[in-house]
Amino acid sequence: MLAEKRRQYAAMNDQASKTRPTIPRPQGFSTRAIHAGARPDPTTGARAQPIYQTTSFVFEDSESAAAYFNLQEYGNTYSRIMNPTVAAFEERLANLEGGAGSVAFASGLAAQAALFVTILEPGDHVIASSALYGGTVTQLKHLFRKLSVELTFVNPDDINAWKAAAKPNTKAFFAETIGNPGGNVLDIEAVAAVAHEVGAPLIIDNTFATAFLCRPFEFGADVVVYSATKFIGGHGTSLGGAVVDKGNFNWSNGRFPVIANASPAYHGLKFHETFGTYGLLMKLRTETLRDLGAALSPFNAFLLALGVETLPLRMKQHVANAQQIADWLAKHPRVGRVSYPGLAASPYAPLVAKYLPKGPGAIFCFDLQGGREAGVRFIAALELFSHLANVGDAKSLVIHPATTTHRQLSDTELAAAGIGPGTIRLSIGLEDSGDLIADLEQALEASR
Ligand SMILES: *Cc1c(COP(=O)(O)O)cnc(C)c1O
Repeated sequence: MLAEKRRQYAAMNDQASKTRPTIPRPQGFSTRAIHAGARPDPTTGARAQPIYQTTSFVFEDSESAAAYFNLQEYGNTYSRIMNPTVAAFEERLANLEGGAGSVAFASGLAAQAALFVTILEPGDHVIASSALYGGTVTQLKHLFRKLSVELTFVNPDDINAWKAAAKPNTKAFFAETIGNPGGNVLDIEAVAAVAHEVGAPLIIDNTFATAFLCRPFEFGADVVVYSATKFIGGHGTSLGGAVVDKGNFNWSNGRFPVIANASPAYHGLKFHETFGTYGLLMKLRTETLRDLGAALSPFNAFLLALGVETLPLRMKQHVANAQQIADWLAKHPRVGRVSYPGLAASPYAPLVAKYLPKGPGAIFCFDLQGGREAGVRFIAALELFSHLANVGDAKSLVIHPATTTHRQLSDTELAAAGIGPGTIRLSIGLEDSGDLIADLEQALEASR
């Protein structure tokens, strides 16, 4: 009965693909942001992506169940490993990034942890930028050190530092497209060249740029990770994350027996040899996601994929607002350094022109005169900006690191992290820029 139904649906889809005109040219980013990964539901005709809120999927018969579990056929079994709503989101993200595929996770940190767990073994070494998201630093420095992973943090701007840190056991280079609080723009091509000389992949956290502003694969990066919680979803409603793989790193280069050799966790399967381009993704899904269990919920996948439909429009507006506000702040007498890399005077201007020609995102820091006290008064006076620990929302957001995320640190320790007592981080939203500037103006006045 079910098998017969499945055959009917397959035939319907087949028919649909035959009657659809073949598309003679590659589609643009905005078209793909709306259509990639989603077709009208073959069962009901629903045009929006249905939320498959189910834990499990009925097998047609014992043979097909066995084929799924042996990975001889690719099909839905249990939503911890795959789910059609989550798959639609994964396909859309991979398409926009120009990757072979992607695996979604419950959060950005879960995605990163899963990737590291998949490619690293105890005793391996990771070289990471020192200008990373705080949660990533903690994850690497404490959780992964506890798992005997060795770590070197380097100044991301210093290509010689990346080179000098490389060792025979180096298994990954890790950095963000745009780092904080300095607004460091990574020279992706240069760091990728160093990583490849060593035989290690370059992993880029592209959360602050998104594929709309920068596609790291075009510059030699091998794997991209996302916190979809930020601009991808875009409305501060849902946690989510993803690993997108370009699919052409050679995991059989002798440095990654953990991926190339027979896996005891999957009845001796050799993931790279068996699945080629999809080797890392298959291992990530069928072993790591299976074992860690940090699966993205279908409802969050629905909201995140819906967010992607307007990503191009939103990113254009985020960038336009951020540029206007950064230019305005840079001229304000109560403001010191403004770290937006889009400023004409930014040391990163040449890298912005190369890697982020549509603009370097909408998250940046500035230094307020008057230290911690001025920071507290400034935040309290803001009306449109929300004081909270998130970025990449349609709503404008603000945080004062010295009294929140970094409050345990002394002024000297803050300075070492590149944060002043009066440093303020903004995530510029989609409101009218005139209203945002008016809010900042009155709060700067109140901070005196
Ligand atoms: C938020 C964030 C993360 C972590 O993502 P979660 O979804 O909060 O787990 C990682 N990297 C960057 C750059 C982030 O902004």
